[in-house]
Amino acid sequence: MKLISCEGVTIGYDGQEAVTKVSFDLEQGDYLCIVGENGSGKSTLVKGLLGLIKPQAGSISFNGIRQNEIGYLPQQTMIQRDFPASVTEVVISGCLNRRGLLPFYSRAEKNRAAEKIKQLSITDIKKKSYQDLSGGQQQRVLLARALCATEKLLLMDEPVSGLDPLMTADLYQLVAKLNQTQGMTVLMVSHDLESAIKYSNKILHLKTETSFFGSTADYLKTEMCRRMMGELSDD
Ligand code: ADP
Ligand code: MG
Repeated sequence: MKLISCEGVTIGYDGQEAVTKVSFDLEQGDYLCIVGENGSGKSTLVKGLLGLIKPQAGSISFNGIRQNEIGYLPQQTMIQRDFPASVTEVVISGCLNRRGLLPFYSRAEKNRAAEKIKQLSITDIKKKSYQDLSGGQQQRVLLARALCATEKLLLMDEPVSGLDPLMTADLYQLVAKLNQTQGMTVLMVSHDLESAIKYSNKILHLKTETSFFGSTADYLKTEMCRRMMGELSDD
């Protein structure tokens, strides 16, 4: 089943197109990676999928999932790293997307947050302040938050940037497990091409326009992929 279909999506800022005529499908169970250089429109497309920016042209349709049922892990900024709230508060705030703003959390929402905290093994730090955690711990907390928001689709924008190799491997393992054992559909923006190839079944390569969309196996055969891998092994 196609959860999301994007057809000819164009998104711009002040008349400048950041994403031009991009088309792709996301099927249930996919692990789709969006790759491409800085400024190629990856985050803009993500914001379009979330409904945070309106496309100027084209269509984004949802099937079997609503736009507010996406678990989103945003690209981190320094301001977010200093967010003054406890781990539990950050995790449970993931429930807010699924309903209107109410002044308190329900028992069910509290249980849900506790379950995700346990699942991601962050119980021992749940009372700590988010800003006092390491980068890897913060990403685990944000992943738990995203899981509060969704049963079906995790959307992550550069989730391993700023993490050391050990924490990076840890995050990839967690996401792979969710995809393989819980059938969680994964859409990940990444500039870690090697890992994107290792874990994904589909690749969308953006360069404002779609440079490639298809299976990871087919992507490996392209000149563009070889060139990017070549650049990686040169340094
Ligand atoms: P990526 O995530 O691939 O690095 P972005 O989607 O962030 O790329 O940016 C794509 C293009 O859109 C860039 O040229 C960037 O400068 C521009 N852009 C991104 N966000 C904004 C914004 N809020 N206002 C104006 N231009 C923006
Ligand atoms: Mg980006």
